[in-house]
Amino acid sequence: MKRTQRRALGLAATLSVAALVTATVTASAGTESVSQDGEGYYQVSLEGNRSLSQLKATGADITRATSGGAEVATDSRGAQELRDRGYQVTYRSSLYAPVPKQATRAAAGTYYGGYHTVAAHEAHNAKVAADHPTLAKVHDIGDSYLKTTGKGGHDIQAVCITESADKACSLSTAGKPKMVLMGQIHAREVSTGELAYRWIDELTTSADPEIVQLRKTRELWVIPIANPDGVDKVASRPDRPISQRKNMNYTSADEAKCGGTSAFRQAGVDLNRNSDLAWDPNEGTACGQTFPGVKAASEPETQAVQGFLAKVYPDKKDDDYKAAVKPGASGVFLTLHAYGNYVIHPYSFTNTTKAPDAAALKTLGKKMTAFNKYRLGTAGETVGYTAPGGTDDWAYGRLGVAGYTFEVGGSSGTCGGFFPAYSCMDGFWEKNRGAFIAAAQGAADPYGQKG
Ligand SMILES: [Zn+2]
Repeated sequence: MKRTQRRALGLAATLSVAALVTATVTASAGTESVSQDGEGYYQVSLEGNRSLSQLKATGADITRATSGGAEVATDSRGAQELRDRGYQVTYRSSLYAPVPKQATRAAAGTYYGGYHTVAAHEAHNAKVAADHPTLAKVHDIGDSYLKTTGKGGHDIQAVCITESADKACSLSTAGKPKMVLMGQIHAREVSTGELAYRWIDELTTSADPEIVQLRKTRELWVIPIANPDGVDKVASRPDRPISQRKNMNYTSADEAKCGGTSAFRQAGVDLNRNSDLAWDPNEGTACGQTFPGVKAASEPETQAVQGFLAKVYPDKKDDDYKAAVKPGASGVFLTLHAYGNYVIHPYSFTNTTKAPDAAALKTLGKKMTAFNKYRLGTAGETVGYTAPGGTDDWAYGRLGVAGYTFEVGGSSGTCGGFFPAYSCMDGFWEKNRGAFIAAAQGAADPYGQKG
């Protein structure tokens, strides 16, 4: 296609978005399928000598590399800023799925059609432990940023499930091999906390022989909400959740400085860029979605999660991240994210250094993707960008734990993106239940799996 034709198409798309946005404002306050500020997914074409890293340097929230460019989550202002810099930007779809009006305020403790609030997760954790005292135990593994500063906030909770939990689940490396599943370190990735919630219910109530066996032979830890302050922010606008990805540490820049809060510009620290393995100060600016913080592991949430993982997993790795894991390594760690339908294994911080145990990580990963049918690979092989300072790289690179990122859900449609309709949860659960079980089964000998 000629450049002028493409320009014309881009302009047409821009105009049609403007028309849609106006229509929503004037005619339809109910369905909110296109938000007033144009928050949505946009295609940015990279032509000539423009690169992904140049686009990243603008602070754009790149959600994935696409053929001919990248997809970014932004709003009308962000799209215009990119156009002013000479990028060709085309609106693709809204951030939000239509939410039935009666469902938005249906059950107490839920938002956006059924997703559980932080308070509801905490009540659920407490009830599970009370209902199953020999099977489940709740630990407080540290404080959220707001709690450390006396501005509300939360304890970060980890639920441990195993037979004789009253005697086990002691936050130590002793005992059964460990599987840890973590949700919502990125607050707006709302399906992930919900999958953790269902996994807790499955592990504590199912009579499926595979689950019974796991309760006998594994310690199954679940951190449903790793970023509770961020999730409070997301859920504070129940019909059209706020696109808060990061934590609520506004020291480096607050909302006024960032010009509001949206997928375009947002205050806080990206907790999945803050771990102290391959932490990169150049990963993002204070209002960008991948701001890594002022130093490695600066955030209380990061310290809580790293501290917890170091307590429960035996350390089977030299500090040199290029070294292979030592014999006897055990444990699997899953961090749930959205979106793209990927299972990602280390390393994610680089495209050039291969994890020394990459082949074994792929073998175990395939046992998971046999169930969810997601694409398996490193970040470079899947999402197409690198992610230094991520939790899964840290678990593998520092402790020798087989760490994986799940990117739940597709990239478009009602069940795609950061805010899938709540009705999509049954499908996500059906796909991933078997993958979680496979991960737990692999925890005894993650690097010794047969293909
Ligand atoms: Zn994420």
